[in-house]
Amino acid sequence: LPAPGVVTLTGPDVAERMPRAEPESNKYRRGVVGVVAGSDRFTGAAVLAVGGAVRAGAGLVRFASAAEAVQQVRAKWPEAVTKIITPEEGVREVGRVQAWVLGPGMGTDDDAHALARSVLDSDVPVLVDADGLTLATRDRSLLRRSAPTLITPHAGELGRLLGVPVEEIEERRLHHARLAAAELGVTVLLKGSTTLVAEEGRPVRVNLTGTPWLATGGTGDVLAGIAGAFLAGGLSCYEAASCAAFVHGLAARMAAGGPEGGQAPIAALDVALELPSAIRT
Ligand code: AMP
Ligand code: MG
Repeated sequence: LPAPGVVTLTGPDVAERMPRAEPESNKYRRGVVGVVAGSDRFTGAAVLAVGGAVRAGAGLVRFASAAEAVQQVRAKWPEAVTKIITPEEGVREVGRVQAWVLGPGMGTDDDAHALARSVLDSDVPVLVDADGLTLATRDRSLLRRSAPTLITPHAGELGRLLGVPVEEIEERRLHHARLAAAELGVTVLLKGSTTLVAEEGRPVRVNLTGTPWLATGGTGDVLAGIAGAFLAGGLSCYEAASCAAFVHGLAARMAAGGPEGGQAPIAALDVALELPSAIRT
């Protein structure tokens, strides 16, 4: 429903803002995104986040994680440059990136915390999702940074972060997205059947391109990769979150049967694979 300070994202809004390939582009200028995700126990989230970034048009994806996750990502996305890292060394030796995606499947133990700290200490934009949000719930200081931060919680993750029951988040999503943006000093992409993008001093953007078929494991990890690619491509957190939500929803709808919406189940990987068509559309 229309509300003051809220705007619905349209295709032309997004088309105008999306990163483009220019004749003088090279992969570094197009944007290098670093992904820190997965662990020895969880590898799928890492594969999906990297897939989102690769298929959304990142110039280069650098992936850094535990050995098992690196092995899986190498097997599925030969485009990515990978590095096995330890929590002690962190991402120091990973190479230059323009933005980081942190969190999906990385775990929440002390080692994961040390790794999260090393990423969040960087001076480039960081997107924090999933386990990264759990770590930030336990240690709020992780989110106090000088560079921009984008968080991508679903209602449960936002509830934990704010210390508010999930039912209250669901009842007043707009209010809590704005509250989190103000209280934490970050850009908030609140996931759900509709997606909200909130940042202090800006209208809240609503994305309606999704489909209920998106309610399946791994789609959020793909979204994180897409938004990371757009951040690395030079978009602000607010624009990257908006464009990512829009094309992610559209890709899902197209995978489920066509841009007007279909009734076929999709898997998270289908969303990643449909991204070039969605972006062209
Ligand atoms: P996650 O909660 O991290 O697994 O991410 C799930 C993704 O699916 C997010 O992009 C949500 O916005 C989207 N999603 C979940 N449920 C629905 C729904 N009922 N309708 C549209 N999108 C949904
Ligand atoms: Mg998730």
